[in-house]
Amino acid sequence: MRGFGFAEHGGPDRLAFVDVPEPTPGPGEVRIRVRAAAFNRLDRFTLEGIPGVPVERPHVLGSDGSGVVEALGPGVDDLALGRSVLLNPGLWDGTCEACLAGEEALCRRYRIVGEHTQGTAAPFVVVPRRNVHPLPEGWSFAQGAAVPLVFQTAWRALHTIGAVRPGDRVAVIGAGGGVPTAAVQVAKLLGGRVAVATRNAAKAERIRRLGADDVLEFDAAGRTLDRVLWEWSEKKGVDVIFDSVGAPTVPRSLRALARSGRIVVIGATAGPLVEVDLRTLFWRQASIRGSTMASAREFSEVLDHLRAGRLEPVIDSERPLEEARAAFERFEAPDLFGKIVLTLPAA
Ligand SMILES: [Zn+2]
Repeated sequence: MRGFGFAEHGGPDRLAFVDVPEPTPGPGEVRIRVRAAAFNRLDRFTLEGIPGVPVERPHVLGSDGSGVVEALGPGVDDLALGRSVLLNPGLWDGTCEACLAGEEALCRRYRIVGEHTQGTAAPFVVVPRRNVHPLPEGWSFAQGAAVPLVFQTAWRALHTIGAVRPGDRVAVIGAGGGVPTAAVQVAKLLGGRVAVATRNAAKAERIRRLGADDVLEFDAAGRTLDRVLWEWSEKKGVDVIFDSVGAPTVPRSLRALARSGRIVVIGATAGPLVEVDLRTLFWRQASIRGSTMASAREFSEVLDHLRAGRLEPVIDSERPLEEARAAFERFEAPDLFGKIVLTLPAA
């Protein structure tokens, strides 16, 4: 079958349509005919090559997917063929101590569809039965593909790791990508007073429509991130800061943190290395925590909220798989807002 990914690691010029074998479901697995797939920043890093993560090549990108159940592996008998589903891209072994404790995101052998395995930007993908969830009633396949990675990331980071409580001041750094658009909604659902800090306030109206109370514009010079956050908090400090940017923002976020405040880092798209003033950290009794993906229970929790309409998928654009290269280029677009979705035909 023909999927979209790469044969060799490198920059965007290495993106290509590749031929890979049609996958066969093994014991406990399900084959999905993909009807929609979505990109994440992770795909860029997988393309470049992540140290310590060997990748089968040619490689199909895409962690997010939805479609219909097309074949069942041995031992799977509780799923109807033709059923519309979406998939959780988190893969865990189910046998290590973390998994047995229901903390699958901490699995010693945790992997992600499209990073460690062949991805969803192809006609078929195979995943374990436990990763397959019914598509919410009335949803398009594109909506189904727009939620799995970003909403589980935002949910664990803000609900579990950041422990957002009603009335907390919560700041989301960055505005356009899939993760921030999910994080704003989750922070609001948890009862936070939510600000989005962005360099591009042109998106302010759309951000407010997602539930943000305030949109703060910052720059590198006068209106620095720490200053706008500090002013927004009325000089009391921000309780929880959700950061996926990394090097340019985390040290400044720390200066705007409240006593006992938490910075939750879920990515480092602009660089991984920062210098931290430990005096600020201990004096404010603050913490910088990492978070990635979610447990099986957390995935179901956030999916329940989506199903009930308390959270909603945000789609930037939808294109057929054949236009995957142009779709991928949207990551660089200043007006990017939400998920970049690819659609595939029914057969
Ligand atoms: Zn495990």
